[in-house]
Amino acid sequence: MSEHVNVAEIFGKNVFNEATMKERLPKDVFKKMKKTIEDGEELDPSIAGVVAHAMKEWAIEKGATHYTHWFQPLTGVTAEKHDAFISAPNSEGKVIMEFSGKELIKGEPDASSFPSGGLRATFEARGYTAWDCTSPAFVREDAAGVTLCIPTAFCSYTGEALDQKTPLLRSMEAINEQSLRILRLFGNTTSKRVAPSVGPEQEYFIVDRQKYLQRKDLIYTGRTLFGAMPPKGQELEDHYFGAIRERIGSYMKEVNEELWKLGVTAKTQHNEVAPAQHELAPIYDEANLAVDHNQIVMETLKKVAGRHGLTCLLHEKPFAGVNGSGKHNNWSLTSDDGINLLNPGDTPHENIQFLLVLGCILKAVNTHADLLREAAADVGNDHRLGANEAPPAIISVFLGEQLEDVIDQLTTTGEATHSKQGGTLHTGVATLPDLDKDATDRNRTSPFAFTGNKFEFRMVGSSDSIAPPNVVLNTIVAEAFKEAADELEKAEDFDAAVHDLIKKLLKDNKRVIFNGNGYSDAWVEEAEKRGLPNIKSMVEAIGALTTDKAIRLYEEFGVFTKAELESRAEVEYEEYSKVINIEARTMIDMAGKQIIPAVIRYTTQLAESIGKVRSAVPEADISVQTELLTETSALLSDMKVALAALIDITEKSAAMEEGKAQAFAYHDEVMPAMAALRAPADKLEMIVDKELWPFPSYGDLLFEV
Ligand code: ADP
Ligand code: MG
Repeated sequence: MSEHVNVAEIFGKNVFNEATMKERLPKDVFKKMKKTIEDGEELDPSIAGVVAHAMKEWAIEKGATHYTHWFQPLTGVTAEKHDAFISAPNSEGKVIMEFSGKELIKGEPDASSFPSGGLRATFEARGYTAWDCTSPAFVREDAAGVTLCIPTAFCSYTGEALDQKTPLLRSMEAINEQSLRILRLFGNTTSKRVAPSVGPEQEYFIVDRQKYLQRKDLIYTGRTLFGAMPPKGQELEDHYFGAIRERIGSYMKEVNEELWKLGVTAKTQHNEVAPAQHELAPIYDEANLAVDHNQIVMETLKKVAGRHGLTCLLHEKPFAGVNGSGKHNNWSLTSDDGINLLNPGDTPHENIQFLLVLGCILKAVNTHADLLREAAADVGNDHRLGANEAPPAIISVFLGEQLEDVIDQLTTTGEATHSKQGGTLHTGVATLPDLDKDATDRNRTSPFAFTGNKFEFRMVGSSDSIAPPNVVLNTIVAEAFKEAADELEKAEDFDAAVHDLIKKLLKDNKRVIFNGNGYSDAWVEEAEKRGLPNIKSMVEAIGALTTDKAIRLYEEFGVFTKAELESRAEVEYEEYSKVINIEARTMIDMAGKQIIPAVIRYTTQLAESIGKVRSAVPEADISVQTELLTETSALLSDMKVALAALIDITEKSAAMEEGKAQAFAYHDEVMPAMAALRAPADKLEMIVDKELWPFPSYGDLLFEV
């Protein structure tokens, strides 16, 4: 049936990667490119023309007709504008294929309608895209033909970041510099660079495309706005499993092949907890590449689904009542010579370094929990965080019994003398056994869990960019490292100083450590006692971006200016309002044009049948029909009232000035009005003849893929 695939052969075949560059670039040019990529040195503009030429020739051999600067504006998805390689025809009417160094390095999309949060007025619409050579160019094959995609950053005329990539690259520079200081403190003189490694696990739902097309809510908002739970619950998953697997399997196969060609290391795939839910995880990459690759993964999941008569839903909560989708952001710090700073290691010396790193990360997370929470905020994720089978909205850290025990020892007696596994932890400072071998217990309910040699930030939404959480992680840890390095570099007795600092860091930041059940109500209470923030919604989270604390942090490390932070907050408030507005209007549309007419049809039929039965058999018991008619009519009337209320409040909110107050109005008033409309509609769905219900049910969508 399916042809044989040689992964090694197709892997990276559509990427202008190091091997291709080595093969196609003059030696000195290749060397300069490599230096720029590896050492973060500025690109020598004189080589751009040569690189552009080689890239173009390579792309044309692959059938490319167009190139695009591929960038990530603040819309959460990628953007691109395609230019053909062709030049103006010569006097004979012939064209040649052109692509200059200038075109490679810089683009100027007329980008006035990308969100900028006031950073760029529409009358100064200039935005620039700048080639990011640390993420390789690639060719994409699809219905549009073959396109050379050049990963780029996107900035305003005055140099402010308008995208996700620019701050990410800035934060990577910050964490690199501060991590190297930590390594040097421990005598490392050889590592040249430290970069965050990121492995994002991507969850998604797959539904049948024909059914999807019958639901305006899925089309306009990516989630269902109405829908009663299927009469039989999630336990049916197994029953339908076989049928799902066949179709999904061939879909996954094609997704993998497409990703491999683009150099994305799609590694694991499996069915997730909810029916019709799945997951894909790549092998981790350097943060910048991981972010780009995750965008490619999301695009590919959607694109390939169409070819299989399916639709991929990346929304965080496409269906109420079953699990939502997230993205686990696995994060660690790796040096160019292979040292993972989050690996506990097995010599005492390295363990001290690890404990310092751990202490710094705890401090970072404790100090900036609000920023981490904010980075995971998106409109869809509001339905997930703190709800069914999702991390709570409270940031806490899971370390596992073993590490927690070491911390207990250090903070109570001042010395860590043993580990729970029986290995001897002796120190002047502290030692740890090999944690990779003694993997601690899992905790599935922690938003920020230590998993052996990395932290897994589990709050991120499935449809969201992973750039913001990594910007936060890189920057807050850079700050903690900097403070530690500032202190330790001037210490006279390093061993004593580091010992004291580790103890202090662990003691001062212990309150964020929580190893219990994060889904329980007891934890919510306990967290409150500990003074940990519990930020329940996106609109409440956004303010974290512009506190004095955040501005100081980001300006110190050159990641965001105050103006950039303010613009981002503004963009998010606006995004929130816009999304909820679309959802509300979609509900109004569906209720008014589809559900209410269907219910009226049903009640009319019911009334007619009551009349007919009565005239045919006057003494027949028509209590069931009458009761149904009464009940349905009452719900119909509830719906009409709720619909009118939703229309009213949505119009009022839409008329407000854009910004924070408007976003809060959508959250505090429109959202509850939406819930009030949904409730009677979902009850009606359980009563009305299925033949008359105007769109596919949850059961149809979730179980009949
Ligand atoms: P777990 O079972 O702990 O969830 P997996 O092996 O399934 O871990 O990996 C989950 C994701 O974490 C994958 O994308 C994987 O490549 C990534 N990952 C593994 N090690 C690291 C690391 N050191 N830094 C960042 N990501 C990592
Ligand atoms: Mg995992």
